Amino acid sequence: MVARRLAVSHNDDTFDVDYDTDDGFEVLKYQLFSLTSVPPDQQKILGRDDQIVSDESDLASISDKLRLVSIDEVEEEIVAEEKEKLENLAMSDEELARLIQAEEEALMMQHFVSRESKEQVEQRIQQYVNQVQMYEDPHRQEMARKTVPVDKLEEKALISLGREGNYKPTKVEQDNAFLLQLLFWFKQSFRWVNSPPCDSCGNDTRSQGMGVANSSETLYGASRVELFRCNSCSNITRFPRYDDPLKLLETRKGRCGEWANCFTLYCRAFGYDSRLILDFTDHVWTECFSPSLGRWMHLDPCEGIYDNPLLYEKGWKKSLNYVFAIAKDGVHDVTKRYTRKWPELFSLI
Ligand SMILES: [Zn+2]
Repeated sequence: MVARRLAVSHNDDTFDVDYDTDDGFEVLKYQLFSLTSVPPDQQKILGRDDQIVSDESDLASISDKLRLVSIDEVEEEIVAEEKEKLENLAMSDEELARLIQAEEEALMMQHFVSRESKEQVEQRIQQYVNQVQMYEDPHRQEMARKTVPVDKLEEKALISLGREGNYKPTKVEQDNAFLLQLLFWFKQSFRWVNSPPCDSCGNDTRSQGMGVANSSETLYGASRVELFRCNSCSNITRFPRYDDPLKLLETRKGRCGEWANCFTLYCRAFGYDSRLILDFTDHVWTECFSPSLGRWMHLDPCEGIYDNPLLYEKGWKKSLNYVFAIAKDGVHDVTKRYTRKWPELFSLI
């Protein structure tokens, strides 16, 4: 026989048990029952590294320190876990989208801190944060709506739904179809600028570098002004890069920055939950939350393309690094949405 003194923990208590190995495993269980009120058939006894102690175990050499768990409690834990899983399944798409968003934001911190300094990233984003605030201005929204042939786009939206066999669309479906017509109309109504034509004679121009913005240009946020000399008459044409979408409603031209800036104002002006998407390899586009899809939808006004987030990586063969969504309520890292090379991006960190 071997007399042993065991320390058995159960819940928050520890019991000292004097035990004679000759008595067998059953006796140990009854001793524990008298101390803890856990019936022998519901006892789960764990030893070193949580190994289960049973009547097969060598009782003379098991650990001095044991843990007693009631099988009821184990079952309760499993039930709780199952319940949580079921609750996750029952989560609405929007809740799930928000959960994924929260995960993405947590990843964002690890993601950029090591490769670019936080200040650099913030500086780059700040300009767009200011733009996004302007979309909430009722005056800018009203001016935007005034430039849109709303009736015509609504009609086109109904026709496109009819082509899909949907003759009695819901409000949500109509809104979604209108948004797409707004995108197609915008693409036709805005002009792309590399070198602007000479504003004196209309001929081709070549770049002359940067000029200093005058007061009428800085009024609409053009801190950068590009200068172009005419190949025919030597006249200098200015191309101010306006940040204020109100001015863009009038000029209706620019590169992707101006396109996405102005289009996102249009989206907000018609009540769509929208955000500006900034890709650090130099492209800008828009996302709108689609209640019919239950998620954010990619919209590229320069291309007139929607819901095709892999356009850049697969279509344009771009290597994306950071993609941020800038909305009125904050900045989100959405890189994951636009790449299938997420694991590779991570391995670079
Ligand atoms: Zn000219």
